[in-house]
Amino acid sequence: MKKILVSECLFGGRTVRYDAVDVPCEHPQFLKWKEEGRLVPVCPEVFGGLPTPRPDSQRREGRVYTGSGIDVTAEYRKGAEEALRLAGEHEVVCAIMKEYSPSCGSKMIYDGSFAGKKIPGNGLAAEMLKAAGFVVFDENEIDEAAKLLAASL
Ligand code: SF4
Repeated sequence: MKKILVSECLFGGRTVRYDAVDVPCEHPQFLKWKEEGRLVPVCPEVFGGLPTPRPDSQRREGRVYTGSGIDVTAEYRKGAEEALRLAGEHEVVCAIMKEYSPSCGSKMIYDGSFAGKKIPGNGLAAEMLKAAGFVVFDENEIDEAAKLLAASL
């Protein structure tokens, strides 16, 4: 079955976000895919061994830091590699990843200053997925993902 890799915080059912807030996607198409078993949930930060809740982190100069300056790049990279491995293991057509995340963001991310400013960019997992050739959508692009999936069937 052709599948879609999704951020686990969008998939729901387990609290994985840094702030322990649940943000499940309730788009009817997303829920239908979930019911069909078409979604592969991944949380790169949890895969990387980080706890929930955990410190807010942002990308800066290619690395990832917490607000207090701890370098968590290795954990983020380990988790992103696991997400990429799972994408390769399944028949994944594309990914739907949570916007603005330092792991999953695919268009805009926070600029590393912890001042609430966003800049164009990718989270580490989204960046690696794109580099491997996967199209990465965000939670506001379910219709676009549906079109890509339909074209692949
Ligand atoms: S790493 Fe991705 S899947 Fe995990 S909580 Fe953050 S945005 Fe959601």
